[in-house]
Amino acid sequence: MHEIQGTTRLLGIIGDPIKHSRSPIMQNAALSHLGADYVYVPFPVKQEQLGIVLEGFQAVGVVGFNVTIPHKQAIMPYLSQISPLAQAMGAVNTVWRTERGWEGTNTDVLGFIAPLKEERQKWSESQVVILGNGGSARAVVAGCFELGVKQVHVVGRNLERLQAFQQSWSDPVIVHLWHELPELLSETTLLVNTTPIGMSPHVNATPVEQELLAQLPKGAIVYDLIYNPRPTQLLKLGRSLDLFTIDGTEMLVQQGAAALQIWLDEPVPVGVMRRALLDAL
Ligand code: NAP
Repeated sequence: MHEIQGTTRLLGIIGDPIKHSRSPIMQNAALSHLGADYVYVPFPVKQEQLGIVLEGFQAVGVVGFNVTIPHKQAIMPYLSQISPLAQAMGAVNTVWRTERGWEGTNTDVLGFIAPLKEERQKWSESQVVILGNGGSARAVVAGCFELGVKQVHVVGRNLERLQAFQQSWSDPVIVHLWHELPELLSETTLLVNTTPIGMSPHVNATPVEQELLAQLPKGAIVYDLIYNPRPTQLLKLGRSLDLFTIDGTEMLVQQGAAALQIWLDEPVPVGVMRRALLDAL
Protein backbone atom coordinates (compact mmCIF):
# COMPACT_ATOMS: atom_id res chain seq x y z
CA MET A 1 0.00 0.00 0.00
CA HIS A 2 1.00 3.61 -0.59
CA GLU A 3 2.93 5.09 2.32
CA ILE A 4 0.72 7.34 4.44
CA GLN A 5 2.26 10.80 4.85
CA GLY A 6 1.22 14.25 6.06
CA THR A 7 -0.21 15.00 2.61
CA THR A 8 -2.28 11.80 2.22
CA ARG A 9 -5.95 12.44 1.45
CA LEU A 10 -8.87 10.41 2.72
CA LEU A 11 -11.45 8.33 0.86
CA GLY A 12 -13.61 5.64 2.44
CA ILE A 13 -16.84 3.75 2.83
CA ILE A 14 -19.54 4.14 5.49
CA GLY A 15 -21.91 1.35 6.51
CA ASP A 16 -23.08 -0.80 9.39
CA PRO A 17 -21.71 -3.44 9.45
CA ILE A 18 -18.67 -2.61 7.32
CA LYS A 19 -15.98 -5.11 8.27
CA HIS A 20 -16.91 -7.55 5.45
CA SER A 21 -16.64 -4.89 2.73
CA ARG A 22 -14.26 -5.76 -0.13
CA SER A 23 -14.14 -2.15 -1.34
CA PRO A 24 -11.03 -1.15 0.68
CA ILE A 25 -9.01 -3.97 -0.91
CA MET A 26 -10.13 -3.02 -4.41
CA GLN A 27 -9.77 0.75 -4.01
CA ASN A 28 -6.41 0.69 -2.21
CA ALA A 29 -5.01 -1.65 -4.89
CA ALA A 30 -5.99 0.93 -7.54
CA LEU A 31 -4.65 3.89 -5.53
CA SER A 32 -1.38 2.08 -4.94
CA HIS A 33 -1.08 1.17 -8.64
CA LEU A 34 -1.62 4.81 -9.61
CA GLY A 35 0.79 6.07 -6.92
CA ALA A 36 -2.05 8.41 -5.85
CA ASP A 37 -1.54 10.03 -2.43
CA TYR A 38 -4.85 8.77 -1.02
CA VAL A 39 -6.00 6.05 1.35
CA TYR A 40 -9.45 4.38 1.37
CA VAL A 41 -10.71 3.48 4.85
CA PRO A 42 -13.77 1.52 6.12
CA PHE A 43 -15.84 3.58 8.61
CA PRO A 44 -18.43 1.78 10.76
CA VAL A 45 -21.23 4.36 11.11
CA LYS A 46 -24.46 3.99 13.09
CA GLN A 47 -27.57 5.58 11.57
CA GLU A 48 -27.95 8.11 14.40
CA GLN A 49 -24.32 9.25 13.94
CA LEU A 50 -24.61 10.01 10.22
CA GLY A 51 -24.87 13.81 10.64
CA ILE A 52 -21.95 13.99 13.07
CA VAL A 53 -19.81 11.80 10.84
CA LEU A 54 -20.46 14.05 7.82
CA GLU A 55 -19.51 17.14 9.83
CA GLY A 56 -16.34 15.35 10.88
CA PHE A 57 -15.58 14.33 7.30
CA GLN A 58 -16.04 17.96 6.25
CA ALA A 59 -13.78 19.18 9.07
CA VAL A 60 -10.89 16.84 8.25
CA GLY A 61 -11.23 17.25 4.47
CA VAL A 62 -12.40 13.80 3.36
CA VAL A 63 -12.47 13.91 -0.45
CA GLY A 64 -15.25 11.38 -1.03
CA PHE A 65 -16.74 8.13 0.17
CA ASN A 66 -18.95 5.19 -0.72
CA VAL A 67 -22.19 4.51 1.09
CA THR A 68 -23.51 1.05 1.82
CA ILE A 69 -26.28 -0.60 3.85
CA PRO A 70 -28.11 0.88 5.75
CA HIS A 71 -27.28 4.48 4.73
CA LYS A 72 -27.96 4.61 0.97
CA GLN A 73 -31.30 6.41 1.45
CA ALA A 74 -30.60 8.08 4.81
CA ILE A 75 -27.61 10.00 3.39
CA MET A 76 -29.76 11.86 0.84
CA PRO A 77 -31.05 14.75 3.02
CA TYR A 78 -27.43 15.63 3.90
CA LEU A 79 -26.41 16.22 0.27
CA SER A 80 -26.51 19.60 -1.51
CA GLN A 81 -26.90 17.96 -4.92
CA ILE A 82 -27.99 14.50 -6.08
CA SER A 83 -27.71 13.19 -9.65
CA PRO A 84 -31.04 12.60 -11.48
CA LEU A 85 -30.20 8.87 -11.67
CA ALA A 86 -29.74 8.59 -7.88
CA GLN A 87 -32.89 10.69 -7.37
CA ALA A 88 -34.90 8.31 -9.55
CA MET A 89 -33.49 5.30 -7.70
CA GLY A 90 -33.89 6.86 -4.28
CA ALA A 91 -30.41 5.71 -3.26
CA VAL A 92 -26.86 7.14 -3.25
CA ASN A 93 -23.69 5.02 -3.09
CA THR A 94 -21.01 7.58 -3.98
CA VAL A 95 -20.44 11.02 -2.40
CA TRP A 96 -17.82 13.71 -3.04
CA ARG A 97 -17.06 17.08 -1.52
CA THR A 98 -17.49 20.33 -3.48
CA GLU A 99 -17.46 24.02 -2.52
CA ARG A 100 -21.27 23.81 -2.29
CA GLY A 101 -21.20 20.84 0.09
CA TRP A 102 -21.52 17.08 -0.43
CA GLU A 103 -22.81 15.80 -3.77
CA GLY A 104 -23.94 12.26 -4.52
CA THR A 105 -24.76 9.79 -7.25
CA ASN A 106 -25.25 6.07 -7.70
CA THR A 107 -22.67 4.01 -9.58
CA ASP A 108 -24.40 0.64 -8.94
CA VAL A 109 -26.44 1.18 -12.13
CA LEU A 110 -23.28 1.57 -14.24
CA GLY A 111 -21.87 -1.48 -12.48
CA PHE A 112 -24.94 -3.58 -13.22
CA ILE A 113 -25.02 -2.61 -16.90
CA ALA A 114 -21.27 -2.99 -17.59
CA PRO A 115 -21.19 -6.78 -18.23
CA LEU A 116 -24.46 -6.62 -20.19
CA LYS A 117 -23.05 -4.16 -22.72
CA GLU A 118 -20.92 -7.00 -24.10
CA GLU A 119 -24.01 -9.14 -24.78
CA ARG A 120 -25.54 -8.85 -28.23
CA GLN A 121 -29.15 -8.58 -27.07
CA LYS A 122 -31.81 -6.47 -28.72
CA TRP A 123 -32.73 -4.73 -25.48
CA SER A 124 -35.74 -2.94 -26.95
CA GLU A 125 -37.28 -6.40 -27.52
CA SER A 126 -36.20 -7.87 -24.17
CA GLN A 127 -38.35 -8.84 -21.23
CA VAL A 128 -36.49 -8.76 -17.92
CA VAL A 129 -37.52 -10.57 -14.73
CA ILE A 130 -35.98 -9.32 -11.49
CA LEU A 131 -36.20 -11.55 -8.40
CA GLY A 132 -36.48 -9.43 -5.24
CA ASN A 133 -37.52 -5.84 -4.62
CA GLY A 134 -34.89 -4.54 -2.18
CA GLY A 135 -32.04 -2.02 -2.54
CA SER A 136 -30.08 -3.66 -5.34
CA ALA A 137 -33.28 -4.34 -7.32
CA ARG A 138 -33.60 -0.54 -7.58
CA ALA A 139 -30.21 -0.34 -9.35
CA VAL A 140 -31.27 -3.18 -11.65
CA VAL A 141 -34.56 -1.52 -12.59
CA ALA A 142 -32.78 1.79 -13.27
CA GLY A 143 -30.21 -0.14 -15.35
CA CYS A 144 -32.99 -1.80 -17.37
CA PHE A 145 -34.46 1.63 -18.14
CA GLU A 146 -30.99 2.82 -19.21
CA LEU A 147 -30.71 -0.18 -21.56
CA GLY A 148 -34.18 0.58 -22.93
CA VAL A 149 -35.66 -2.87 -22.33
CA LYS A 150 -39.22 -3.62 -23.45
CA GLN A 151 -40.68 -4.78 -20.12
CA VAL A 152 -39.50 -4.93 -16.53
CA HIS A 153 -41.12 -7.52 -14.24
CA VAL A 154 -40.30 -7.61 -10.53
CA VAL A 155 -41.06 -10.69 -8.43
CA GLY A 156 -41.37 -10.40 -4.65
CA ARG A 157 -42.90 -12.08 -1.62
CA ASN A 158 -44.71 -9.17 0.02
CA LEU A 159 -47.54 -7.51 -1.91
CA GLU A 160 -47.44 -4.24 0.04
CA ARG A 161 -43.70 -3.81 -0.48
CA LEU A 162 -44.08 -4.76 -4.15
CA GLN A 163 -46.77 -2.14 -4.68
CA ALA A 164 -44.73 0.55 -2.93
CA PHE A 165 -41.77 -0.43 -5.14
CA GLN A 166 -43.92 -0.19 -8.27
CA GLN A 167 -45.27 3.23 -7.33
CA SER A 168 -41.81 4.65 -6.70
CA TRP A 169 -41.00 4.59 -10.46
CA SER A 170 -42.29 7.00 -13.07
CA ASP A 171 -41.68 4.42 -15.83
CA PRO A 172 -43.77 1.20 -15.87
CA VAL A 173 -42.68 -1.72 -13.69
CA ILE A 174 -44.92 -4.81 -13.52
CA VAL A 175 -44.93 -6.58 -10.16
CA HIS A 176 -45.74 -10.21 -9.30
CA LEU A 177 -45.79 -12.57 -6.37
CA TRP A 178 -43.50 -15.63 -6.65
CA HIS A 179 -46.25 -18.05 -7.68
CA GLU A 180 -46.63 -16.07 -10.92
CA LEU A 181 -42.98 -16.63 -11.95
CA PRO A 182 -43.61 -19.79 -14.08
CA GLU A 183 -45.92 -17.78 -16.39
CA LEU A 184 -43.16 -15.27 -17.13
CA LEU A 185 -40.08 -17.34 -17.91
CA SER A 186 -40.71 -18.57 -21.46
CA GLU A 187 -40.72 -14.93 -22.69
CA THR A 188 -37.79 -13.76 -20.54
CA THR A 189 -34.39 -12.99 -22.08
CA LEU A 190 -32.75 -11.67 -18.88
CA LEU A 191 -33.38 -13.12 -15.40
CA VAL A 192 -31.70 -11.25 -12.52
CA ASN A 193 -31.45 -12.51 -8.96
CA THR A 194 -31.27 -9.65 -6.44
CA THR A 195 -32.27 -11.77 -3.43
CA PRO A 196 -29.61 -13.18 -1.09
CA ILE A 197 -30.82 -16.75 -1.83
CA GLY A 198 -27.70 -18.81 -2.63
CA MET A 199 -25.26 -16.46 -0.89
CA SER A 200 -22.53 -18.01 1.27
CA PRO A 201 -22.93 -19.94 3.59
CA HIS A 202 -26.23 -21.15 2.00
CA VAL A 203 -24.45 -22.16 -1.18
CA ASN A 204 -26.85 -24.96 -2.20
CA ALA A 205 -29.92 -22.71 -2.18
CA THR A 206 -31.35 -21.38 -5.44
CA PRO A 207 -34.20 -18.92 -6.01
CA VAL A 208 -35.27 -20.87 -9.14
CA GLU A 209 -35.10 -24.67 -9.52
CA GLN A 210 -33.69 -26.32 -12.65
CA GLU A 211 -37.07 -27.45 -14.00
CA LEU A 212 -38.37 -23.88 -13.96
CA LEU A 213 -35.12 -22.36 -15.25
CA ALA A 214 -35.33 -24.71 -18.24
CA GLN A 215 -38.35 -22.70 -19.41
CA LEU A 216 -36.11 -19.73 -20.31
CA PRO A 217 -35.65 -19.40 -24.07
CA LYS A 218 -32.36 -20.37 -25.78
CA GLY A 219 -29.82 -17.54 -25.51
CA ALA A 220 -31.34 -16.10 -22.32
CA ILE A 221 -29.02 -14.56 -19.70
CA VAL A 222 -29.09 -15.53 -16.02
CA TYR A 223 -27.47 -12.76 -13.91
CA ASP A 224 -26.90 -13.28 -10.19
CA LEU A 225 -25.82 -10.19 -8.20
CA ILE A 226 -24.23 -12.46 -5.58
CA TYR A 227 -20.42 -12.62 -5.82
CA ASN A 228 -19.77 -15.17 -3.07
CA PRO A 229 -19.80 -18.04 -3.98
CA ARG A 230 -18.75 -17.88 -7.62
CA PRO A 231 -20.72 -19.36 -9.28
CA THR A 232 -23.89 -19.60 -7.23
CA GLN A 233 -26.15 -22.64 -7.46
CA LEU A 234 -28.46 -20.62 -9.74
CA LEU A 235 -25.61 -19.92 -12.16
CA LYS A 236 -24.47 -23.56 -12.05
CA LEU A 237 -27.98 -24.61 -13.09
CA GLY A 238 -28.00 -21.94 -15.79
CA ARG A 239 -24.69 -23.21 -17.19
CA SER A 240 -25.93 -26.81 -17.19
CA LEU A 241 -28.82 -25.60 -19.38
CA ASP A 242 -26.41 -23.79 -21.76
CA LEU A 243 -27.71 -20.37 -20.77
CA PHE A 244 -25.42 -17.30 -20.57
CA THR A 245 -24.48 -16.55 -16.95
CA ILE A 246 -23.07 -13.47 -15.21
CA ASP A 247 -22.10 -13.22 -11.53
CA GLY A 248 -21.93 -10.14 -9.27
CA THR A 249 -18.17 -9.54 -9.31
CA GLU A 250 -18.07 -7.32 -12.37
CA MET A 251 -20.89 -5.15 -10.98
CA LEU A 252 -18.90 -4.69 -7.77
CA VAL A 253 -15.70 -3.86 -9.65
CA GLN A 254 -17.35 -1.43 -12.06
CA GLN A 255 -19.35 0.48 -9.42
CA GLY A 256 -16.09 0.92 -7.49
CA ALA A 257 -14.15 1.99 -10.58
CA ALA A 258 -16.82 4.55 -11.47
CA ALA A 259 -16.68 6.00 -7.93
CA LEU A 260 -12.87 6.24 -7.96
CA GLN A 261 -12.99 7.98 -11.32
CA ILE A 262 -15.31 10.62 -9.85
CA TRP A 263 -12.98 11.25 -6.88
CA LEU A 264 -9.70 11.30 -8.83
CA ASP A 265 -11.05 12.72 -12.08
CA GLU A 266 -8.69 10.51 -14.08
CA PRO A 267 -8.85 7.04 -15.71
CA VAL A 268 -8.62 4.24 -13.14
CA PRO A 269 -7.02 0.74 -13.45
CA VAL A 270 -10.13 -1.46 -13.61
CA GLY A 271 -8.04 -4.61 -14.23
CA VAL A 272 -6.05 -4.02 -11.03
CA MET A 273 -9.30 -3.61 -9.07
CA ARG A 274 -10.79 -6.79 -10.58
CA ARG A 275 -7.64 -8.80 -9.78
CA ALA A 276 -7.53 -7.51 -6.19
CA LEU A 277 -11.20 -8.40 -5.68
CA LEU A 278 -10.92 -11.88 -7.21
CA ASP A 279 -7.83 -12.59 -5.09
CA ALA A 280 -9.77 -11.56 -1.98
CA LEU A 281 -12.86 -13.66 -2.74
P1 NAP B 1 -32.08 -6.09 0.39
O1 NAP B 1 -32.28 -4.64 0.18
O2 NAP B 1 -32.20 -6.68 1.73
O3 NAP B 1 -33.10 -6.85 -0.61
C1 NAP B 1 -33.21 -8.24 -0.67
C2 NAP B 1 -34.49 -8.64 -1.41
O4 NAP B 1 -34.53 -10.06 -1.42
C3 NAP B 1 -35.78 -8.18 -0.73
O5 NAP B 1 -36.74 -7.84 -1.68
C4 NAP B 1 -36.21 -9.41 0.05
O6 NAP B 1 -37.61 -9.52 0.18
C5 NAP B 1 -35.77 -10.53 -0.88
N1 NAP B 1 -35.54 -11.76 -0.15
C6 NAP B 1 -34.66 -11.97 0.87
N2 NAP B 1 -34.72 -13.25 1.28
C7 NAP B 1 -35.67 -13.85 0.52
C8 NAP B 1 -36.20 -15.16 0.47
N3 NAP B 1 -35.76 -16.12 1.28
N4 NAP B 1 -37.18 -15.43 -0.43
C9 NAP B 1 -37.63 -14.46 -1.27
N5 NAP B 1 -37.17 -13.20 -1.27
C10 NAP B 1 -36.19 -12.90 -0.40
O7 NAP B 1 -30.64 -6.55 -0.12
P2 NAP B 1 -29.79 -5.95 -1.36
O8 NAP B 1 -28.92 -4.84 -0.89
O9 NAP B 1 -30.72 -5.70 -2.50
O10 NAP B 1 -28.81 -7.17 -1.66
C11 NAP B 1 -29.32 -8.38 -2.18
C12 NAP B 1 -28.21 -9.26 -2.75
O11 NAP B 1 -27.52 -8.60 -3.79
C13 NAP B 1 -27.12 -9.64 -1.72
O12 NAP B 1 -26.79 -10.99 -1.95
C14 NAP B 1 -25.95 -8.76 -2.06
O13 NAP B 1 -24.71 -9.35 -1.77
C15 NAP B 1 -26.12 -8.60 -3.57
N6 NAP B 1 -25.56 -7.34 -4.06
C16 NAP B 1 -24.53 -7.38 -4.95
C17 NAP B 1 -24.00 -6.21 -5.44
C18 NAP B 1 -22.87 -6.27 -6.42
O14 NAP B 1 -22.22 -5.24 -6.65
N7 NAP B 1 -22.62 -7.39 -7.04
C19 NAP B 1 -24.51 -4.97 -5.02
C20 NAP B 1 -25.57 -4.97 -4.12
C21 NAP B 1 -26.09 -6.15 -3.64
P3 NAP B 1 -38.47 -8.66 1.26
O15 NAP B 1 -38.44 -7.25 0.77
O16 NAP B 1 -39.79 -9.28 1.19
O17 NAP B 1 -37.75 -8.85 2.57
